[in-house]
Amino acid sequence: MFVEVALPLPVSRTFTYRLNDREAKPGTRVRVPFGPRRIVGWVVAATSDMAQPAEGGGSPAEIRAVDAVLEERPSIPPDLLELCRWIADYYVVPIGLVIRAALPLALSDPRRRAEPQKSRRMARIVRELPGLLARDELFRRAPRQRACYEAIEASGGSAAVQHLTERLGFSTAVVRGLVEKELVGIIDQREQRDPFSSVQVAPPPALRPTAAQQGAIEAIIAASRTDSIVQPFLLLGVTGSGKTLVYIEVLREIVTRQGRSAIVLVPEIALTPQTVARFRSHFGDVVAVLHSALSDGERFDAWRSLRDGERRIAIGARSAIFAPVRDLGAIIVDEEHESTYKQSESPRYHARDAALIRARAAGAVCVLGSATPALESWSNVEHGKFRLLQLPERVEGRPLPAVQVVDLRAPKDAAERSPAGRPILSQPLSEAIADRLRRGEQTILLLNRRGYATFVQCRACGAVWHCEACNVSLTYHRARRRLVCHYCFHEEPPPTHCDACGSGDLSFRGVGTEQVEREVGERFPSARVARMDVDTTSGKWAHHDILGRVERGEVDILLGTQMIAKGLDFPRVTLVGVVNADVAMNLPDFRATERTFQLLTQVAGRAGRGERPGIVFVQTALPEHYAIRFALQHDFRAFADREIAERAETRYPPHTRLANVVISGNDEAATQQAAAEAATWTRRAARDVAVELTGPAPCPIDKIRGRWRWHFLLRSDSPRALGSVCRALQLDYTLRPGRAELRLILDRDPVSLL
Ligand SMILES: [Zn+2]
Ligand SMILES: [Zn+2]
Repeated sequence: MFVEVALPLPVSRTFTYRLNDREAKPGTRVRVPFGPRRIVGWVVAATSDMAQPAEGGGSPAEIRAVDAVLEERPSIPPDLLELCRWIADYYVVPIGLVIRAALPLALSDPRRRAEPQKSRRMARIVRELPGLLARDELFRRAPRQRACYEAIEASGGSAAVQHLTERLGFSTAVVRGLVEKELVGIIDQREQRDPFSSVQVAPPPALRPTAAQQGAIEAIIAASRTDSIVQPFLLLGVTGSGKTLVYIEVLREIVTRQGRSAIVLVPEIALTPQTVARFRSHFGDVVAVLHSALSDGERFDAWRSLRDGERRIAIGARSAIFAPVRDLGAIIVDEEHESTYKQSESPRYHARDAALIRARAAGAVCVLGSATPALESWSNVEHGKFRLLQLPERVEGRPLPAVQVVDLRAPKDAAERSPAGRPILSQPLSEAIADRLRRGEQTILLLNRRGYATFVQCRACGAVWHCEACNVSLTYHRARRRLVCHYCFHEEPPPTHCDACGSGDLSFRGVGTEQVEREVGERFPSARVARMDVDTTSGKWAHHDILGRVERGEVDILLGTQMIAKGLDFPRVTLVGVVNADVAMNLPDFRATERTFQLLTQVAGRAGRGERPGIVFVQTALPEHYAIRFALQHDFRAFADREIAERAETRYPPHTRLANVVISGNDEAATQQAAAEAATWTRRAARDVAVELTGPAPCPIDKIRGRWRWHFLLRSDSPRALGSVCRALQLDYTLRPGRAELRLILDRDPVSLL
């Protein structure tokens, strides 16, 4: 028998191996020889065709044999293998790399034969001794055995042997004595490494769905009970409208009543502890949380418990779409517009799109939820591909927060000016903060830029300090007294004079979160302030700690980057201040406007979620811009109409499909030339299909980590035509080898063109 094996290598083919007197179903993990190495691969098909032997040769006699079949049951169930195939095909990635990304790391280790499994030996009482007389009789000459027996009894009838011997000081002979008397049995209990099992979860509050929530729940449940292909749902609900309640009631039907499984995707699990806690409070240990802070072992345990059906709800970020659940009944993608659903390295899949594919194949319902859906999803509603469900109002009749614009162009009095000359906190925002402090309410301040000053400039000649390896300005971090590159992490001491002209007159410009923190501290010295950005959340559970303090009311002002805009629900937050709404607007990316609208709407939505109404101040120099205007009005539809019309002119999604091809190398001229050659080749390959090529041109950030970057764009209305050109480019084209270490990256449906 021969098998096709996918290997986790950057080669776009599978390899044929011989399988001696054994069977291995597709999806089975095997260890195979590859050159001098032994590596782990996955059987993707049984075959009698020996077209692609592992190396050289070609005749059946020369085909090498599988070294070991590593598991009885395939680690990739058939539906998951199908999903991996789709990703490999659509994003043009070797399937071995997709499978590796889909599985816990532990399963790519060639030395690991059996599944890693911590087990511990448990002593369990197998014969009860109800009366004291019986005990006196049995243990007459063995008081230690009696003490040990009663210790096990006291801990509920079973105890870890290690606990008895090491902590309680019983000898192994004592335990053995109890086993010989057939009073106690020793069993191996598989230990579930789940850091969430110790997290106390409050019982869920009983909530009555609103009419709109009830309508959405009923529509989704009805669809889950039909046999026909289910249309995906887009749940458009304003912030605070209770989308999570809808998800929970849907899962109650799918998981509890129908006995099937479900996957819940959240943008970033560390930032959504409240959402996760709500699912756990309703479904308890049926939930496996796939947290990025899990160790490899914990991750493996969660994975295994899902595969074995012990747990039936997988909650996690992007990669949870690969959860090996049995009998999938629903996939929920919360905050479906978030760009974190797109993986930024190979395989560059979009988890929302993978969710649609997996749900359709499984006959499961798929619910995409957001207050600010991606325009691609909205366009799918308009074209009848998705079914729209709406939650137009907040729960309990609470109003959406009032939003006020503070025009940064208006003259301000000198007292409010930062050293750089622009106000950080305007008069109305400062007064509102002071008000909240007096009333014991909480404030959220957003500035989507970290560090103290985002660039350093010479006042005499205008020179700006850049990273030598990346063509971006260096950010000044005041607490550490360093200039830092946010792309390659290069650091250097801050300058004292200009290298170009020798002037010592330098200005530290562009306000970052660190500077806001300082300003807030100076203005409100008694306020308890917490800052949440990449610099303050390097620890595994740092997000959790900060958000816990806010929840307990130990923080008056939470300030941070976009991290604080996502899904937080703190009833005492009645004020949100956006320090500068224009940060993302001017990025050279076709989604810059959409991102700005989403961020403003989402952060505004953090205000007034409890009984007291909320207010939002948006500081901007672009008060007339439609992204800001429509965010003030909480009007997603108006924004979508306008932005979709704008994109029609420039031919960007959702009007067309894109692939971004980036050529990089460590020599500027060689990179430019390679990009030109690749573009010429691709143009020829695209000649007879409806695919249009724009470029090549330098990427907006034209150098990162010492590598120059050029790109060109492929556009098509036909996914099929675009796919064929992408495949041709990836499989048939090779960059001319040279000294520049050239690389070609193909990113289909990119979320960013930077
Ligand atoms: Zn200078
Ligand atoms: Zn750099």
